[in-house]
Amino acid sequence: MIRHLLSAADLDHTEALRVLDTAAELLALADRPIKKLPTLRGRTVVNLFFEDSTRTRISFEAAAKRLSADVITFSAKGSSVSKGESLKDTALTLQALGADAVIVRHQSSGAPHRLAASGWVDGSVVNAGDGTHEHPTQALLDAFTLRRHLAGGVGDLDGRRITIVGDVLHSRVARSNALLLATLGAEVTLVAPPTLLPVGIDSWPVSTSYDLDGALAKSDAVMMLRVQRERGAAGGFFPSAREYSRRYGIDSRRMALLPDHAIVMHPGPMNRGVEITAEVADHERSVIVEQVSNGVAVRMAVLYLLLSGSAGEQDA
Ligand code: ASP
Repeated sequence: MIRHLLSAADLDHTEALRVLDTAAELLALADRPIKKLPTLRGRTVVNLFFEDSTRTRISFEAAAKRLSADVITFSAKGSSVSKGESLKDTALTLQALGADAVIVRHQSSGAPHRLAASGWVDGSVVNAGDGTHEHPTQALLDAFTLRRHLAGGVGDLDGRRITIVGDVLHSRVARSNALLLATLGAEVTLVAPPTLLPVGIDSWPVSTSYDLDGALAKSDAVMMLRVQRERGAAGGFFPSAREYSRRYGIDSRRMALLPDHAIVMHPGPMNRGVEITAEVADHERSVIVEQVSNGVAVRMAVLYLLLSGSAGEQDA
């Protein structure tokens, strides 16, 4: 297994399936009264969050705890980062604490790569979302959810048609999903206003369309993306929120265009009423809450596979 998980492209077909299969085994644990495994006892996992998060931070924390690791959670707010401490000095402090894995979320694209390449920390680095770049564990939990609903929970996603809609430009979820879904054999279509598609989209393993209704009719799943206001998405990229919802949001009428077996996904947090209406978000074919619970199993699998081959376990 690889040492760090920085990009969805770090996983080849075999490794991606290994994570999904391991997560499937670990998911069974969630139904047991005692949810803990001793696997990472004595190992230290640090959650290093420079940017806000609800689901990802809690999910990594739950995952590490269920594997019996010691977990240290660090948020930039309330730490010396707000006094100007650099990523390097923060990393050296973590190293002094003996972190076996560092889960990092940062507003700058490339920060986890810097951490992994610098030698400032010895442990495995997991990218939990860097700027507008990547969010590989979100892609893994999305693939896991898709596999359960569209492929009976086994194998890859060969030929499944997944439509990703919205603010692709600012979305690390879209890039990681495009890469991983291509590895797993799915056909991905991106639907977005031309202003919210990144330069260089031609090099992504996807097709693009501006016709949401047409794409939905051919989709096995649709993944709605949040309009990322904090990254400036509302500033001039489309005329108004209302116009955006009309062209690129999903409501009950659009949901009816999907084939009967198709599911609706969203990585959260949702802007209800902008990219997705409340009726669709709460619909029985919406798997948004399930994505969150699958996230814990997938992150357990990632931590287990990254750490189980390293020195600490052999010493244990
Ligand atoms: N939670 C996801 C992320 O951190 C998606 C989003 O924020 O819209 O990228």
